[in-house]
Amino acid sequence: MELTCIVCPRGCTITYDVVDGEAVNIQGNTCPRGKTYTETEVKAPTRMVTSTIPIEGGVYHQIPVITSAPIPKGAIFEVMDIIHNTSVKAPINVGDVIIENVANTGIDILAARTMK
Ligand code: SF4
Repeated sequence: MELTCIVCPRGCTITYDVVDGEAVNIQGNTCPRGKTYTETEVKAPTRMVTSTIPIEGGVYHQIPVITSAPIPKGAIFEVMDIIHNTSVKAPINVGDVIIENVANTGIDILAARTMK
């Protein structure tokens, strides 16, 4: 099997086999992060999620947000739905928790910038 590593812009093409649900014979990764990425992609794929939410009283109408850690791919639609139904009031500081434990993932949605 084959995938493109998305951990850094180099985008290495990685080949691997799957045995008993685990990635084996991993080749093509230029650094160890590619091996870890491949193993995670096969076992339990995750992604960072970024989006924007409406902010009331801010200098802009939307504020960017990001997950505090990668979330399981299977939870992305539920997380995006929750984000799209959330709004905040200014001021907000970068790193503020906007949504705690989103979709029971144990991961928070954080403000990605300060907005007065
Ligand atoms: S394997 Fe390493 S160098 Fe290649 S894309 Fe992944 S992180 Fe970047």
